[in-house]
Amino acid sequence: MAQNGAPEPDNNVHKTKIIIVGGGMAGLSAAYHLTKNGVTDYKILEARGRIGGRIIQIPIGNEKVELGANWIHGVLGNPIYELAMQHGLVDFISPPKPHKVVAATEQGKQVPFTVLHEIYEAYLCFLKRCEEYFISQYLPPEGIDSVGEHIKLEVSLYLDKIKDPLERRLRELLFNCLLKRETCISGCDDMNEIDLLEIGSYTELQGGNIVLPNGYSAILEPLRKVIPQENLLTRHPVNKIKWNHNKKSTDNDSDSDDSDRTVIESPSSSRESSCEKTFSKHNVEVMCDNGKKFLGDHVICTLPLGVLKHNANSMFHPPLPSYKLEAIDRLLFGTVDKIILEYERPFLHPSITEVLLLWEEDGEKSDISENWYRKIYSFAKITETLILGWISGKEAEYMETLPNDIVIDTCTTILRKFLNDPFIPKPKRCVCTSWHSQQYTRGSYTAIAVGSSQLDIEYLAQPIYLDEGERKPVVLFAGEHTHSNFYSTVHGAYLSGRTASQYIMNSEEPQEIVVDCEDATDLSSWVQGICLE
Ligand SMILES: Cc1cc2nc3c(=O)[nH]c(=O)nc-3n(C[C@H](O)[C@H](O)[C@H](O)COP(=O)(O)OP(=O)(O)OC[C@H]3O[C@@H](n4cnc5c(N)ncnc54)[C@H](O)[C@@H]3O)c2cc1C
Repeated sequence: MAQNGAPEPDNNVHKTKIIIVGGGMAGLSAAYHLTKNGVTDYKILEARGRIGGRIIQIPIGNEKVELGANWIHGVLGNPIYELAMQHGLVDFISPPKPHKVVAATEQGKQVPFTVLHEIYEAYLCFLKRCEEYFISQYLPPEGIDSVGEHIKLEVSLYLDKIKDPLERRLRELLFNCLLKRETCISGCDDMNEIDLLEIGSYTELQGGNIVLPNGYSAILEPLRKVIPQENLLTRHPVNKIKWNHNKKSTDNDSDSDDSDRTVIESPSSSRESSCEKTFSKHNVEVMCDNGKKFLGDHVICTLPLGVLKHNANSMFHPPLPSYKLEAIDRLLFGTVDKIILEYERPFLHPSITEVLLLWEEDGEKSDISENWYRKIYSFAKITETLILGWISGKEAEYMETLPNDIVIDTCTTILRKFLNDPFIPKPKRCVCTSWHSQQYTRGSYTAIAVGSSQLDIEYLAQPIYLDEGERKPVVLFAGEHTHSNFYSTVHGAYLSGRTASQYIMNSEEPQEIVVDCEDATDLSSWVQGICLE
């Protein structure tokens, strides 16, 4: 108590109009758009000691390497590309380096380019057919629910026409490799997990995959510099979001109970500009592991789907509506990891940029500890001395538990075998991502699992209002998992953050960005396409 008998102000209780949980692209975008529109009564609560979330760069040797997002997927209508352009982050001068892929067998034999080309074209065609179910009226064959099953059916019909068993086998291995690659693109363990009717819901933007010369992480700076520094609180892991924590308009009763809402904003005040609104309600109370408490009118939750799967039940009070919890359960948040190997000297031929690994089927070894590495579908050059391997699903999760020297030895054995060269050196360093084990991500990105649908993403995106009379929601959701066409991408996260900010700023419905997505021909992914010229 203070000397005059009034309670001491609690330094751990902070008031702000808008609380943004998470400082990844979605949270930063929400903050950026609020600030640009003159709204600065907000705080970003970020658990980690850095911003960016799944956009993160580290130095390896003399290079900067992205551990998460790497490609701006698509140019036309891509707000991230526009942002990068505005800030001079795109390199228009240096032409992209040619991407030359070879495919090799376990016996160290390289597949003729014509065969690789043939199978890649056929594969693209099979994938396109899967995507078409989303907009077309016709249905897939009975009992085929997943992309994996559909592609395997097409593959078996295709292979039936090839009489020579060796030729057929080689093509089968190539299809298997491309399916593994697809699991890294989609973010799953197996393509049998991906809903066939829904895969086409992902919208492709034209223009190919763009790499920023200073890395994807350079895109964070234009956002960060607009956000007032004092609004960005790192090392603030949120553990509780109370969202009907209505106070009776006094500033000092932060410990009052969670009684039902008693002060309802009058219709006229709800039409006021959001900048003019005062701290009258504090419908939201957000608590952090460090003991700090934030009271506000709105919360924008950008927690990744993996974190929601793990924590949504305990984090929200009252609990989220069941339609949201069920959508969180149904959607997939798979694991995709990178294995980055640093070498003293180059060893791959300068003209080769990627080696596809054509693993034989290994039915006998079902123990993951003995066969996890067979999920690595390729090794690609980042530079002449930095090599990147991709791995997905259960095997990626297992890899995350291994010490680096095991990964180094395993990758060296693989490269020596497939390139048929016992002198391939050992890397001097290995960096493996651990997106699944990261408690503030718990996976890599969102996919639509068999039995879920684009509607589930829309359910997740749906803001929550305290009552029907309210114009502005109390809990808003943003993040890649809330964008119904661009889920799994940075531009999806960016747009979702912008939409959340618009809900709060506008009394009208938010305007979604309009993009022209017709005639998109790229692979539906941000993973760099195989260029077979
Ligand atoms: C390996 C990999 C490669 C990728 N490649 C690409 C690519 O090339 N192109 C592309 O467009 N996309 C790519 N993506 C996807 C892209 O990175 C994400 O879609 C995007 O960055 C997600 O942004 P977000 O804001 O939704 O989530 P996040 O970036 O995950 O941000 C959420 C934030 O919330 C914080 N947080 C979590 N829990 C708490 C808590 N309890 N309290 C407070 N804060 C918390 C996290 O620390 C994080 O900063 C890739 C992702 C991965 C993993």
